[in-house]
Amino acid sequence: MPVRSPYPDVEIPEISLFDFLFTDFGGRDAEPALIDGGSGASISFAELRGMSERIAAALAERGITKGDVVGIFSPNTPYYAAVFHGILRANAIVTSANSLYSPGELAHQLKDSGAKLLFTASPFLERAAAAVEQAGLPADSIIVLDGAEGYPSLRDLLGSTADVPAADVVATDTAVLPYSSGTTGLAKGVILTHRNLVANLLQIQQMGTVTGETKILAVLPFFHIYGMTVMMNQGLHANATVITMPKFDLPEFLRIISEYQIQRVYIAPPVAVALAKHPIVDQYDLSCIDIIFSGAAPLDAELGHAMGKRLGCTVLQGYGMTELSPVSHCMPDDRADLDLNSSGFALPNIECKLVDPETGEEVGPGGRGELWVKGPNVMVGYLNNPEATAATLDDEGYLHTGDVAEVTEEGVFSIVDRVKELIKYKGYQVPPAELEALLLTNAKIADAAVIGVKDAEGEEVPKAFIVTQQGAEITADEVMAFVAERIAPHKKVRVVEFIDEIPKSASGKILRKDLRAREAANA
Ligand code: AMP
Repeated sequence: MPVRSPYPDVEIPEISLFDFLFTDFGGRDAEPALIDGGSGASISFAELRGMSERIAAALAERGITKGDVVGIFSPNTPYYAAVFHGILRANAIVTSANSLYSPGELAHQLKDSGAKLLFTASPFLERAAAAVEQAGLPADSIIVLDGAEGYPSLRDLLGSTADVPAADVVATDTAVLPYSSGTTGLAKGVILTHRNLVANLLQIQQMGTVTGETKILAVLPFFHIYGMTVMMNQGLHANATVITMPKFDLPEFLRIISEYQIQRVYIAPPVAVALAKHPIVDQYDLSCIDIIFSGAAPLDAELGHAMGKRLGCTVLQGYGMTELSPVSHCMPDDRADLDLNSSGFALPNIECKLVDPETGEEVGPGGRGELWVKGPNVMVGYLNNPEATAATLDDEGYLHTGDVAEVTEEGVFSIVDRVKELIKYKGYQVPPAELEALLLTNAKIADAAVIGVKDAEGEEVPKAFIVTQQGAEITADEVMAFVAERIAPHKKVRVVEFIDEIPKSASGKILRKDLRAREAANA
């Protein structure tokens, strides 16, 4: 029997995300919606709406119309939100790119998504310009938010006197195309509709107590669905104030929490290590924090408890996936008594199954199985990729997550393993297939396979098994350097082992299970 959320269903209005977020600010029109934690510069709710409309007008002037895709390659700033919602207000689609991407990785996303324009910031311009060229887009497809010689800036767009285009989206239209490798293969465009995003905000709302008085810290990137939905858009929906940080820096993170009196901090597990252990934490008054919420990768309960005790706050965990808009499970604010190894309950409107990957049989409480999720936040599919879509979404509408979970009689889910090939490094996706394809472009490498292994700190890291080309010589350091020069830092290969042959099935698929077993045997 599928497990239904213990919470009553919520009704999901059939409206665009823009109308959902920007129609009523609960009287907080002039209050800050977003504040740049570094400079203190802020944008109020009313200003944000106005800026989004100006950006939409300027985009329409540049020929952007319904269904066009526009990329954002930028760190977190309050302007990210203006651009994001400006693109949606222009009836277009946002594709958000990882700001650590190399030109090659960004070019792949721009080409694959069919992006017509790219917003970036001046420190990223060199990579953005190289990517735009590689993707075959004209050099004038770039808008540099903070301005750069020869490029239009955000200020230019905001000065547009053109008419705001008429709103022309329905709830089932695509709103965003974040990229995820899902259970296998390369990064794919995840089709999330306005309805998916609106649904997830309403589902999340039932689990927590974010209000207009709440201050939320947004250090996790808006380009990733966790930052996009749970920080940026949840903040706007609750008329809360979101304080942005462009990247993680521990002293700055602590200063901002203390200075802005932030009550709600969303993190990925590596931040918990710093908060639980780093001596510098004691130098700041962090008594303002009510809740630290961890997601994106498994949180070690002991570490979570140590962090909560040190800071005197509640620690909660949730589970999500880009393909789920992203949250499907979380511990509600008032249930800090739940096992912190768990990811809490299924959100309203969600039904789950746990299915034994070997037998295909559904398992109940006490058993372990692949987590399947059904609900209004489940993606439509992968862009231009019916095979990957069919392999992930079944006929009944269940999304097969590739994560292995357990559930208690009460309906509390814990993620205990992964059957998919995805590796997560500090909460960021590392698709093994991408690293394998890259390694094979090295003439000295005959074959390669990549899996995730635990390093001395318990962090998951990519390990490459390498078969050297006959007669060639290559060292582990050379293998690591070859990869590091070509991809984003979080995807670096961090361990190398030379091996005679990569174990493969009769059909030529890499037998990662055998590599994992070999790893366990050598541990
Ligand atoms: P992404 O699409 O980048 O958000 O990655 C989704 C994946 O992150 C999931 O399929 C899980 O493998 C992992 N993940 C997210 N949250 C958790 C969690 N609380 N515990 C364990 N794994 C998680």
